[in-house]
Amino acid sequence: MRQWTATHLAKLARMASKMAGKKGTDLPGQVARRVDKNILRNLAQEVDEIVFISGTNGKTTTSNLIGHTLRANHIDIVHNNEGANMAAGITSAFILQSKPETKIAVIEIDEGSIPRVMKEVTPTMMVFTNFFRDQMDRFGEIDIMVENIARAISNKGIKMLLNADDPFVSRLKIASDDRVYYGIAKHAHDFEQSTMNESKYCPNCGRLLTYDYVHYNQIGHYHCECGFKREHPKYEISNFETTPFLNIKVDGRYLDMKIAGDFNAYNALAAYTVLRELGLNHESIQKGFETYTSDNGRMQYFKSGAKEAMINLAKNPAGMNASLSVGEQLEHKKVYVISLNDNAADGRDTSWIYDADFEKLQEQDIEAIIVTGTRAEELQLRLKLAEIDVPVSVEKDIYKATVLTMKYPSYTVAVPNYTSLAPMLEQLNRSFEEETKS
Ligand SMILES: [Zn+2]
Repeated sequence: MRQWTATHLAKLARMASKMAGKKGTDLPGQVARRVDKNILRNLAQEVDEIVFISGTNGKTTTSNLIGHTLRANHIDIVHNNEGANMAAGITSAFILQSKPETKIAVIEIDEGSIPRVMKEVTPTMMVFTNFFRDQMDRFGEIDIMVENIARAISNKGIKMLLNADDPFVSRLKIASDDRVYYGIAKHAHDFEQSTMNESKYCPNCGRLLTYDYVHYNQIGHYHCECGFKREHPKYEISNFETTPFLNIKVDGRYLDMKIAGDFNAYNALAAYTVLRELGLNHESIQKGFETYTSDNGRMQYFKSGAKEAMINLAKNPAGMNASLSVGEQLEHKKVYVISLNDNAADGRDTSWIYDADFEKLQEQDIEAIIVTGTRAEELQLRLKLAEIDVPVSVEKDIYKATVLTMKYPSYTVAVPNYTSLAPMLEQLNRSFEEETKS
């Protein structure tokens, strides 16, 4: 009865907070937990597999990839995919998504919330992405956190899926005998930030670790005099490319993905490891991995028939250079739509476009460039100064400018600044939906 009341109050709370215009992912859980403090414990007992995904970076991408792939294979899940990754948010997900037939829960969990949530839920599997010091204030906090996590999960029979290449994550092997490692082979890829920015010490004995190979930061192939070392991974990426989207080779077979960013190779591999350990084969994983895209306008991919597009936010010279480099990596003929607004949130001063390297467009195979936004003419002038031998047209309406690119068979590269992002993204979503229907 208490659980019934808690569940219904939680659903009402979600409705109320939705009406108030909030996302409402924590509130239902908070309300329910106040009425029934055992609600999470009880609901969690109704599923067979509970996967926790944790680490400093990449847990949302990893967990969304897992969720998307399971759903692509018509497997019902509980999934806190809105990033509500503490006790209340996790409770919300169980309340709002559990159905009698749901047997798997995919739960992203804040690394600091693990000891607390573990008092109520024991996962069957835990995957850790990485532990980085950047968000930690003091030296040694990672070690303390890893010790706390290890203590919370020890001797509970949890299968640990660990990033072999991160010594901090690998340290968690002390918490369980049931361990599976994943990692990336030496020379698989030259990571963009491949330097190690501080010396790394052995989490076992405190000596300086010896590295045979560094992917980036402390992530790589290491060993220590005390015997602590990178373990041999069961799942390994042997090489991968960014074109600009990831194409990874794992277990001798390719996965041609639609997400970018070389660090995402680790997130993809973490998700792959979970899915294989849940019993999915390569083909089933491919079904999810090859259709998963970001949805926030950052390196977001679109496709309908032969028409393809990507959008990437650029609000400063570095962002613009990155977006133009993405164009370089695309082997297709391209049509660009570039937008410059000067609303308050963008900053009124748009002179930064003179610090961006538009000259690099000279080298690309471009069919047309459309400039848009409140300061479209300024972009047109900038491109003229860059001496790009391509027709540049002005269409100040962002929606119309975006639609114009759809008339070209070329690959659309959409580059909005801050307040241009929402209209451009909205139009791309609409145009590609219409293409799919027609
Ligand atoms: Zn050591």
